[in-house]
Amino acid sequence: MQLPGLIDAHVHTRDPGAPHKEDWGTVTAAALAGGFTAILAMPNTQPPITDAAMLETALAAARAKARCDYAQYLGATEANAEALPPLAPRAAGLKLYLNSTYGPLRLDDTATWHAHFARWPRHAPLVVHAERHTLAAAILFAALYDRPVHIAHVSRREEILLIRAAKERGLPVTCEVTPHHLFLTADDLPRIGAGRGEVRPVLATPVDQQALWENMAVIDCFATDHAPHTLAEKDSDTPPPGFPGLETALPLLLTAVHQGRLSMDDLITRLHTNPRRIFGLPPQPETLVEVDPDAVWEIPLHGWHTRADWSPFAGLKVRGRVRRVVLRGREVFRDGEVLASPGYGRDLRAE
Ligand SMILES: [Zn+2]
Repeated sequence: MQLPGLIDAHVHTRDPGAPHKEDWGTVTAAALAGGFTAILAMPNTQPPITDAAMLETALAAARAKARCDYAQYLGATEANAEALPPLAPRAAGLKLYLNSTYGPLRLDDTATWHAHFARWPRHAPLVVHAERHTLAAAILFAALYDRPVHIAHVSRREEILLIRAAKERGLPVTCEVTPHHLFLTADDLPRIGAGRGEVRPVLATPVDQQALWENMAVIDCFATDHAPHTLAEKDSDTPPPGFPGLETALPLLLTAVHQGRLSMDDLITRLHTNPRRIFGLPPQPETLVEVDPDAVWEIPLHGWHTRADWSPFAGLKVRGRVRRVVLRGREVFRDGEVLASPGYGRDLRAE
């Protein structure tokens, strides 16, 4: 079975700053192994990507090491609303962290939100991390400025219902949901372990999970929020939030297709068509993903291309496996082996 090249609009590369967790070379190897031929990289690196110099630092690392295509987000701060708009053509988009997350980029003051909404170009993607009541405030800003806003990692019933209501009113909001919020809940924490199970937004209730599935029509994209940390860090007294997810997303979603919970068209729309449209990404010619939809396997804890090398889904039985990936005419993955060299990946915002 053949799929188009998948696009993950929400990936944490940890590069620059934390190469022991991941870097541009390992994160893009994991992407190809998972069937993703393009990733959009989040800005909460160390230091974060909040100005022209840091954008160039990240893009230089990507140019040298990336094996799949990519673009890099900029992070909004209290001080950079005026400096960022000229960088918009070179960036995946602008990310506003309106709730606490990993890293220092949280914006608490709505006056800062106004500064960014007023200046960031209307046609350039704007993504918010906004949970619960904050999501209601973010939707108000989409209405006030009448501009598209993409909501990252929706995880709760109250949130998907709010987005449904906003869409019914014609407000310009789109959203993504992660595989871990579709396939795991807080009930899985005893199996995963409390530290390993730390993630933002947190794993929700089965009622929340059910609401996501029941409102599949409201979900525009699946995005992994691949957020690698080492197992030693996850098992420490201060476990950082985040899961690796690039290599398990497609097998989990293909399993849902097999079970009749999702159609193949639902899957391709949310992993290819919609992210390409919402983020204005160029087509990737001569690009395809070959999957074996009938391969049955159990997700292992170790043995991944991500440097974090663990999975919160370990032990789950899945049906469907990536066999081969072709990116721009070249075979870049086959039967477990990444064939693309570092530097083969292209900057999707280069033109
Ligand atoms: Zn994230």
